[in-house]
Amino acid sequence: TQFSDLNLDPKVLKAIDEAGYTTPTPIQSGAIPAALRGQDVLGIAQTGTGKTASFTLPMITLLGKGRARARMPRSLVLAPTRELAAQVAENFDTYAKYTKLTKALLIGGVSFKEQDQLIDKGVDVLIATPGRLLDHFERGKLLLTGVQVMVVDEADRMLDMGFIPDIERIFSLTPFTRQTLFFSATMAPEIERITNTFLSAPERVEV
Ligand code: AMP
Repeated sequence: TQFSDLNLDPKVLKAIDEAGYTTPTPIQSGAIPAALRGQDVLGIAQTGTGKTASFTLPMITLLGKGRARARMPRSLVLAPTRELAAQVAENFDTYAKYTKLTKALLIGGVSFKEQDQLIDKGVDVLIATPGRLLDHFERGKLLLTGVQVMVVDEADRMLDMGFIPDIERIFSLTPFTRQTLFFSATMAPEIERITNTFLSAPERVEV
């Protein structure tokens, strides 16, 4: 398979061509077609396999031309640490550079003010650590009822860091009709339980 066979938005194809990618990695050729069909995805993959693009590229394509609304992001990406969230945000900027999609990075250690301003204006994609996202929600600044695509990255690290209750809470604040792309390096029993609860007939892609 080539990227051009994957039904990605031509603007995304242009960006990945510029990034120098020629062939999708196994997690990408497994996850991208399922995500573009609208299916939930359970990706079992380590860092370094190309998993960030395996959720970011279809997410950008699925969001398409829709418009961001104030305080109601259309997509949510959760990552366990500030560094990982920032990396996802960088990847998003690279792959979405020819689209009009907007994002906000919600991580601790920086002031709420700038993040609030972006949310108020309306962003398509929120990329966040769970604690910071819930802080914004509790302050009444954010609605998650418009989330169409939700990504959980590195769920096994979220488990190690004690974030599973936060993740469950965040899932419960988003619509049932959302599409979920869920990634973990391993499938601990607790992770299995979460995926059984919150994913609907996922395509399981293990690399
Ligand atoms: P990740 O596993 O998402 O952390 O990605 C690992 C590295 O592989 C990153 O530096 C990506 O830019 C790069 N990468 C992702 N997909 C591809 C691809 N299909 N071809 C070449 N490099 C890629």
